[in-house]
Amino acid sequence: MLNRFLSPLQNERFQAFEQFATTEVTPYADEWDLQEATPLPIVRKLAHSGWLGGLANQDSGGLGFDATTFGLLNLAIGAGSGSLTGLLNVHSMVLKTIEDWGTPDQKQRFLAPLVCGDIIGAFAQTEVSAGGDSKNLSTRFEEHGDELSVTGQKTWITFAQIADLFLVFGKLHGLDTAVLIPRDIPGFTITPKKNMLGFKSAYLGVLDFADCRIPKANIVAKPGFGQSLVSTGALDYGRISVAWAALGIQQAALAASARRANSRSTFGTLLADQGIVRAYLAEMSGNLLASQLVCLSATMAKESKEEDALEQILQAKLFASQHAGDAAAKAVQIHGGHGCDEANGVSRLYRDAKILQVVEGSNELQKMLIGRAVCERY
Ligand SMILES: Cc1cc2nc3c(=O)[nH]c(=O)nc-3n(C[C@H](O)[C@H](O)[C@H](O)COP(=O)(O)OP(=O)(O)OC[C@H]3O[C@@H](n4cnc5c(N)ncnc54)[C@H](O)[C@@H]3O)c2cc1C
Repeated sequence: MLNRFLSPLQNERFQAFEQFATTEVTPYADEWDLQEATPLPIVRKLAHSGWLGGLANQDSGGLGFDATTFGLLNLAIGAGSGSLTGLLNVHSMVLKTIEDWGTPDQKQRFLAPLVCGDIIGAFAQTEVSAGGDSKNLSTRFEEHGDELSVTGQKTWITFAQIADLFLVFGKLHGLDTAVLIPRDIPGFTITPKKNMLGFKSAYLGVLDFADCRIPKANIVAKPGFGQSLVSTGALDYGRISVAWAALGIQQAALAASARRANSRSTFGTLLADQGIVRAYLAEMSGNLLASQLVCLSATMAKESKEEDALEQILQAKLFASQHAGDAAAKAVQIHGGHGCDEANGVSRLYRDAKILQVVEGSNELQKMLIGRAVCERY
């Protein structure tokens, strides 16, 4: 359905993304999930294709993906592995932050290696006591001449286990501040976070900063703008990634369900011939269609810098992830006991879909923000 709304270049790229996902991602995603690890060669392949840094402008060495093309990449990869969209998500947030708000020195040091994937970026905002409530971070930065000290802890940081550069949020003189912290500095430790419900191969980690020292030149934008500018801007891309990855999950759940319905007989009849199963499939495909349109509208609004682009992105994240959860739950139901087996792909879709409802601002937070925008409008 989406194809008819895409430009020839978007269509061409979408086909390449799907081809890559079909051969390199989908066949292995269950194994990665069970092993709680994404093999590094697949990360390298994404980097070499240019897609990992695809969102960067051509001036920065990127492919200058528009928001819809970035969405299509997340859709294609998300239909294979939700965890792998976590990499596209956090890496792109760091890359775009530096491109949009970085100083010339930061761009010179970090942009080219991020764009070509020589280094991996991660986004570190959440703390055990502050996730959605990001105004109350307890990570502290203090000035010491030309240096900043960093003290605090971050948790559930996607791809932290293999990331090289972290965009870290905290307070400097009580002001919300974002800084860039390289992996290999004294006092910085990263502990793998295992046994998550979903996104199991997304290399989650806990970051501990024990009086680490970084140059003051690593502050992004100005102190006081860490949340209002840096985090909010980055999360636009993070939410687009989540929304379109949710389309991938819906698509995969629908395909797996239809295939199962066409092949499984109960009481002498194919599931596909049971009215209630057909009704499930009809609901799943209708919700996928609606989600595609909401996501497309959001990325087109972002590209043309429309006034309500932020609100549309919030709606897309909320709507598509909600229906990814519903579709994956129906897929498990249609698969019965087989769907409840951890090694079965639909079980993974179900667990990953739940994650999409929590990350990048929980869906309750999206509703709060959308509701506020609606009230302001009237
Ligand atoms: C797999 C995974 C990957 C993640 N990756 C990253 C990452 O890369 N970087 C990062 O910084 N963080 C990451 N996170 C953290 C994630 O962004 C947070 O978990 C999320 O923002 C929710 O915050 P919280 O867990 O503190 O929940 P809380 O803020 O404690 O909220 C708990 C529940 O209460 C609801 N709630 C809270 N306040 C209100 C309210 N006022 N009204 C109504 N409901 C409310 C929330 O919606 C939520 O459902 C990740 C989490 C997971 C699970």
